[in-house]
Amino acid sequence: MATRESVIRKSEKYFDDGGFVEELSKLVEVETESQNPSKRHELHRYLEDFISPLLKNIGFKIEIFANPVLNGGPILIGERIEDPNLVTMLSYGHGDVTPPQEDEWNEGLTPYKIVVKGGRIYGRGTADNKCQHLINIRALACLIEERGSLGFNVKFVIETSEEIGSIGLREFFLEHKERLKSDLMIASDGPRVDKDVPTLFMGSRGGLCFKIDVNLREGQNHSGNWGGLLADPAIYLAHAITCIVDSRGQLKIPEWRPRSLTPKIRLALKNIPAPMGGVEISSEWGEVGLTPAERAFGWNSFAVLAIDSGDPKAQVNAIAGKASAICQLRFVVGTELDEILPSLRRELDNNDLAMVAINKVNNNFLNATREDLDNVWVKFCTNSLAKTSGKNPHILPNLAGSLPNDVFVDILNVTTVWIPHSYAGCSQHAPNEHILMATSRDSLRNMAGLFWDIAEYKFNFHMSRFQTTDY
Ligand SMILES: [Zn+2]
Repeated sequence: MATRESVIRKSEKYFDDGGFVEELSKLVEVETESQNPSKRHELHRYLEDFISPLLKNIGFKIEIFANPVLNGGPILIGERIEDPNLVTMLSYGHGDVTPPQEDEWNEGLTPYKIVVKGGRIYGRGTADNKCQHLINIRALACLIEERGSLGFNVKFVIETSEEIGSIGLREFFLEHKERLKSDLMIASDGPRVDKDVPTLFMGSRGGLCFKIDVNLREGQNHSGNWGGLLADPAIYLAHAITCIVDSRGQLKIPEWRPRSLTPKIRLALKNIPAPMGGVEISSEWGEVGLTPAERAFGWNSFAVLAIDSGDPKAQVNAIAGKASAICQLRFVVGTELDEILPSLRRELDNNDLAMVAINKVNNNFLNATREDLDNVWVKFCTNSLAKTSGKNPHILPNLAGSLPNDVFVDILNVTTVWIPHSYAGCSQHAPNEHILMATSRDSLRNMAGLFWDIAEYKFNFHMSRFQTTDY
């Protein structure tokens, strides 16, 4: 007879018999670079030849759609509807990866061929996001094979444009809103707080990229003949940045400082260790009076991602004509996305910097989301993970990074619970991307247990937020 333990044992066996590494290898070999137009066909091949069979084998109906927006990759919906009266879970993953950076990997490693070494599984996309959706699909498979059915309904969405800002995902969800309606969403991406302890996060920080440009004149002019006579764009640019932050990166614009770090959120973050993963946290940096966890998960942060003026490799004793910087604000709920750039404009104008232009970077933004930590689904998932792992999960109000979670929350009004399967040192978006064998195995067990619990628990529909009123 199928039991919670037997489903978990099945997931362990799949991992221990090599099934996980073998299947992940196949997924990693598909060069799903969404930023590279010449690899476009790989995005479709990933969904058609690899994800579809995985889901079809466990009774899912598959449909692959062209992206509703030009330049966006295809999107897959996999559905297994056992009974419309049962709870319906939405899940999400992305098949695309960042550029491979082939020449920068350590000796013996290469982006598109999996190497297992020292308890690590190396390969581009292992952590972000291929292992994450594979673990969830395989945990569902263990439940179905062992139990004979899911006991709930699942709608799985896999997109292929996450690394280019989830192009078209919002339009796609608007178009398929009725079809994708669900009671909760459980998905996986990003790192655990501690590689040995399950983490849950209930939203993500938003992210807005923008460019500040100072464009004074064409060409460069001799700094001896013209110094003191021609305005220097790089100096204007530097002043613009100091309008935004002080010398330790503390935000100066009132609208950019969140008001949502409530005592309840601070309490939730109290036992969260500082983000870990290979680099030492700067002691004299960030908002004074906040712990590292509060700065990462409960506060906003500004970064200059790239900066440009003149040519540092071939400077010619000249005053540049232009200067620009690509900047980013990561922000938590309570910061109004629509007010970010207007308040910067006001601040620049008040500081005599009207010549500094603000330009959006190809619609590169995601809004911030955060579920109430008292939400009944949050508690349910926390208890389940604790039961399987024997450890108290780390609960984050939101991820420090950004995800297209605003799409799910805004359009479906669904509770979102994210359960990451990687760890902070995984080098995602960098050479030597990898996941940990032990963490992956642990995650498979946890998800198998969680899906069993969802199948077996006799839910009342009032658990889902949008049905509260009609219950
Ligand atoms: Zn990524």
